Amino acid sequence: MIPYGRQDISQADIDAVIETLQSDFLTQGPAVERFETALTDYCGAAFGVAVNSATSALHIACLALELGPGDLLWTSPITFVASANCALYCGADVDFVDIDPATFNMCPRALETKLEAAQAAGRLPKVIVPVHMTGQSSDMAAIAALARKYGVRVIEDASHAIGGHYLGAPIGNCAHSDITVFSFHPVKIVTTAEGGAAMTNDGKLAERLRLFRSHGITRDPRLMTHAPDGPWYYQQVELGYNYRITDLQAALGVSQMARVDDYVARRHAIADRYDALLAGLPVLTPLRHPDGRSALHLYVIRLAPEALERPGHRAVFEGLRARGVGVNLHYIPVHTQPYYSKFGFAPGNFPASEAYYASAISLPMFPTLSEDDQRRVVDALKDTLAA
Ligand SMILES: *Cc1c(COP(=O)(O)O)cnc(C)c1O
Repeated sequence: MIPYGRQDISQADIDAVIETLQSDFLTQGPAVERFETALTDYCGAAFGVAVNSATSALHIACLALELGPGDLLWTSPITFVASANCALYCGADVDFVDIDPATFNMCPRALETKLEAAQAAGRLPKVIVPVHMTGQSSDMAAIAALARKYGVRVIEDASHAIGGHYLGAPIGNCAHSDITVFSFHPVKIVTTAEGGAAMTNDGKLAERLRLFRSHGITRDPRLMTHAPDGPWYYQQVELGYNYRITDLQAALGVSQMARVDDYVARRHAIADRYDALLAGLPVLTPLRHPDGRSALHLYVIRLAPEALERPGHRAVFEGLRARGVGVNLHYIPVHTQPYYSKFGFAPGNFPASEAYYASAISLPMFPTLSEDDQRRVVDALKDTLAA
């Protein structure tokens, strides 16, 4: 089976991990800081806080922005459940803004309409979480302008998007948001096995992110309620978690970050080839928006109406799997998950997201995908569409 995504591990990666394994630190050592520096150097944000997953990063980002009971977070329905669950962890409520069908990202016009209505109803969100679906930036200039107008904080879920650019600058520089979150899961652009990070330009937010990463405990006297009892002293000033990343993982991340541009370039070459090979088939190839350069975590096609009619979405998906192509579907609209129905969501709430779900298929996309395997994918798709 050709997988839809796969990590690329080099000898340099293996050497970096082994070297750390033989060092004095397995966790919270110098590699974590080196990884954070690699992230801030690459993205141009002032601060980077590495953690054990993007899910953790989203959680502490919400906590840093003081999201709590009675507050509201809005995100896109077309995302992994973690982008919404982070609000529930904080006791806050979740709502969604429908996507732009051309980019699969949160639609700024839908956001504007919903903000106007929310203001009239006296129930504005505290935080919005645009998701850079497939690695392509959301329309952050428009979203940031609306966030400023309505006094809403912004967390970019850039789990797909390290190595991507927007308006000529790296995604993760936080020019249009309070915090940007990355994931380093093996299917994403660069990996630390499990891992994530929260980037910010705000020193106070960075301080809070670090507190929540590690039990809410500090050794910084400036943050304590009284002078330290002695040199051993630490103080718990918030209820935090153990969301620390290990030095082993961070060493892998530093080594991987050296290849991020190469990874994204290879993904674009693969997308160019797909675009050419798929021409003439009843499928819509994904838009690469001129406002940026996608990290191309995913290559999502949508079946054209005639293919949806016959053989049908599910038949094409199953036909590809039966032919050894490990296609996937990113994502099931979060509001249609049974867990979310208890909050009152129902099918029909976000029509563009639901139409996307009924037609989307993620084809294999990873930097080491060979030309031969790519041709096999397209041949299998042709076969399936003709069945
Ligand atoms: C993968 C992913 C996450 C969660 O990442 P983890 O590192 O696995 O916790 C969150 N949001 C999106 C959009 C993702 O794709």
